[in-house]
Amino acid sequence: MKAQKYPDCKICGKKIPNSRKYNAWTCSIKCHLKNIRINARRRELHRKMEVLLHYGGNPPKCACCGESHIEFLLIDHMTGDGNKHRHGKYRYSGSSFYIWLIKNNFPDSFQVLCSNCNFTKRNMNKKFCKVHHMELYK
Ligand SMILES: [Zn+2]
Ligand SMILES: [Zn+2]
Ligand SMILES: [Zn+2]
Repeated sequence: MKAQKYPDCKICGKKIPNSRKYNAWTCSIKCHLKNIRINARRRELHRKMEVLLHYGGNPPKCACCGESHIEFLLIDHMTGDGNKHRHGKYRYSGSSFYIWLIKNNFPDSFQVLCSNCNFTKRNMNKKFCKVHHMELYK
């Protein structure tokens, strides 16, 4: 019965020592901290996905070239006018930005771009990048 009460460590798979009562999911502090990190990462991915689905459709894709690999996708400010939509210390990336978007009910003027298109249109006052939408740059 005792063995069932303490399942194997969900991080490293080792038996969890009976002495370890405060957390039945991991075998040691080290695994416990690792587990917290993994959960935080998972929450962050989930948050990113929620934002990407809102702005990029389902499945989310780059509004410029159609790239659909989640790892490459990010939220882009459509006109590149960063000042108009300044929100304090937040940059247009990272989990704090995703939280900001969710809290503010997904404000308009953002879109999903892949990192390539975003990089190519950086500092340009255009919606899409030069490679895929040359007509915008005439
Ligand atoms: Zn462990
Ligand atoms: Zn793209
Ligand atoms: Zn593009």
